[in-house]
Amino acid sequence: NSPEYPPKIHRLSHSVVKRITAGDVIQRPLSAVKELIENSLDAHSTNINVIIKNGGLKLIQVNDNGHGIRYEDLPIMCERHTTSKLLMFEELMRMKTMGFRGEALSSISHLGHVTVTTITQGHVHGYRVSYKDGAMEHEPKPCAAVKGTQIMVENLFYNMVASKKTSQNSHGDYTKIVDLVSRFAIHHINVSFSCRKHKATRPDIHTTAASSRLDIIRSVYGVEVARSLMKIEAADNNPAPSVFEMHGFMSNASYAAKKMTMILFINDRLVEWSALKRAIEVVYTKKMHKASKPFVYISIVLPPDQIDVNIHASKKEVSILNQEVIIEQIKSMVKSRLRSSNEAQSFEEQI
Ligand code: ADP
Ligand code: MG
Repeated sequence: NSPEYPPKIHRLSHSVVKRITAGDVIQRPLSAVKELIENSLDAHSTNINVIIKNGGLKLIQVNDNGHGIRYEDLPIMCERHTTSKLLMFEELMRMKTMGFRGEALSSISHLGHVTVTTITQGHVHGYRVSYKDGAMEHEPKPCAAVKGTQIMVENLFYNMVASKKTSQNSHGDYTKIVDLVSRFAIHHINVSFSCRKHKATRPDIHTTAASSRLDIIRSVYGVEVARSLMKIEAADNNPAPSVFEMHGFMSNASYAAKKMTMILFINDRLVEWSALKRAIEVVYTKKMHKASKPFVYISIVLPPDQIDVNIHASKKEVSILNQEVIIEQIKSMVKSRLRSSNEAQSFEEQI
């Protein structure tokens, strides 16, 4: 028997493609938790609770009290490129929601088993339905439900290579998830967050809405951190076109940590901006007597057309117009705040 030679080109089936590419959006349980929390925030929730089993590989459950999902939308909810947030490409320029690609739930449902329970306002009961590979497994079943949505993801990565589904590092995964929830909690102070292990009696983080940001930082990162924070603020003093505002907290000269904590939100989106992080780290290294790493929380607000959130499927890194100008201004502000805190400290040491 002679196999076809040369090998014939054929189209991969949709489900094979999806399994291969789903990993771009969801690399670890952490990325799934981030997507689910962002969906809850997009649904205007004020209460978001996360439950994790086995680092998220066995179970990720996110409960919210948001606006819920329409009954008639449930059939397509986990299909790829289905979203309630974006209609026209042009809207990308002024995206206010975290989501817009309509990819997260679809990807997650190709990597694990998804069960949604949801109720919308004015209805006496909710619906529960499960999904596999983007499709409903059965008709939605009426059920009792409290306000909002619960999304349950079971056995994430069950069909993936060993490296993904291994539970060896499930403790590390859980730690990262708690850290992620902490970051959201510190920024969204009008939302209560909690995160606990499945069957644990106490949550590992629990914040209450309407506490001050400093109170939340204290409850999450401890008194030591909170005590050594300085409030920071900056606004662009240049004329147009670059308009930006930032506020946040940075640690003072007496704070000493081995690792830098950098929590950055741009237009309410939790992102990484390594150039800014490095710039701030360098300022601290130069200005501090001791080799200690800072704690920094920064929230930046930019005109939506100055930032591109669509450069990465995971929406983790963003691309920003006038990067250098913004970095330069934040750097010089950090520098001067650190100098005055340094002087205050050496003054205290003298007396
Ligand atoms: P995206 O967030 O990019 O729209 P997703 O795949 O994350 O795509 O979600 C698909 C759709 O499902 C959302 O547009 C939203 O309408 C709905 N949805 C998902 N999670 C929730 C939730 N927790 N509450 C209300 N609606 C939700
Ligand atoms: Mg989403």
